[in-house]
Amino acid sequence: MALILRRASTWDGESPDLRTADVVCADGMVRSVEPAGSVRPMPDDQVIEAEGSTLLPGLIDGHVHLVWSGGSDPADIVERDGEQVTAIRAAANARAQLLGGVTTVADLGSNWDIAIAVSRAVTQGHIEGPRILAAGRTVAMTGGHDPFWVNACDGVDAVIRGVREQVFLGAALVKTAATGGVYGRAEGEVVGASELTPEELTAMASEAHRRGVRVAAHALGAEGISNAVGAGIDIIEHGVYLTEETAAMMAANGTVLCPTLAVYRSLAEGGGPAYAAAKAADVVQAHGEAVRMALEAGVPVIAGTDAGSPGMPHPSLGAELAALHACGMSPVEVLRAATSRAADAFGISGGRISPGAPADLILVDGDPLSDPVAATQPSVAVCGQRVVHRR
Ligand SMILES: [Zn+2]
Repeated sequence: MALILRRASTWDGESPDLRTADVVCADGMVRSVEPAGSVRPMPDDQVIEAEGSTLLPGLIDGHVHLVWSGGSDPADIVERDGEQVTAIRAAANARAQLLGGVTTVADLGSNWDIAIAVSRAVTQGHIEGPRILAAGRTVAMTGGHDPFWVNACDGVDAVIRGVREQVFLGAALVKTAATGGVYGRAEGEVVGASELTPEELTAMASEAHRRGVRVAAHALGAEGISNAVGAGIDIIEHGVYLTEETAAMMAANGTVLCPTLAVYRSLAEGGGPAYAAAKAADVVQAHGEAVRMALEAGVPVIAGTDAGSPGMPHPSLGAELAALHACGMSPVEVLRAATSRAADAFGISGGRISPGAPADLILVDGDPLSDPVAATQPSVAVCGQRVVHRR
């Protein structure tokens, strides 16, 4: 049985413009894109008449935490709830992402490796959810950023063990921390302080690549960003105090930036604990400039929200797409950042409407090529050819 979406204004995930088309899906994948009105359905095919709507690839959020639900202090809630309730919460958050048209998420940190289990439960069909690229616990240093979900590793040998352990558990990518952060703990953490050493980061990247997975590094301070980029890390998370020199190195190496602009605004506006608000105010000042610098240098920028963090429920892509647009990205660049460019950053197929791509699709009202935020309010969401949401 095929799924046919007819006569939608279709954006393929890359082109600068739309074209009206019939899109045919079979076996969970896009089979063909045909001239509008040309496809004759078979009796048992599922047909969605989509004239007047815009069809896009399902959205990709490049940075979420499914164990958190966006309250003012989610790390504290996990501590109080414990492992079992947190796992159920993570499953519910995954489903909320999918119903919002987010068909793929990268989960960059979960207590007890819960996101890996949730990813597996989706794949096995026990629960409804997006495709989840899960890191599980982070591979980072003792006493550093986000200690509550760390697989603590100190020294080159330990870092190599950490990577191997996460891959063995089923991690689709590795998450590390190259600097301190804003939210996580009230004391003892400084945004500008570097954490893992260049030697440790280099060992991590090369071992991860040897095992066929990519590495995303939390990095806010300039020295830590530079350490991570120099080590061959694939994706820089946040990148707040990026320098022109490091941006040029990122562009030359193809290192991706996932800035997560919106979450720091939420923290600065008091969405989280008081200690985080004070730190976030400085970050917001510098962050927009860092993204503009990256774009100017030609660094690939992708959309990630840190959903689950204070003030960022599942899903939260609308706020991030608006923030990227405000940094000077055109609407089509913003949409690419949440589709094809994100898929490329994670080395997955998808983020496109083309033959052989997964049948992950959303239908939206309005014109997301003039207002990209419109893409985050789908009237229909499809994942693996299954219609999961229909308004
Ligand atoms: Zn995060």
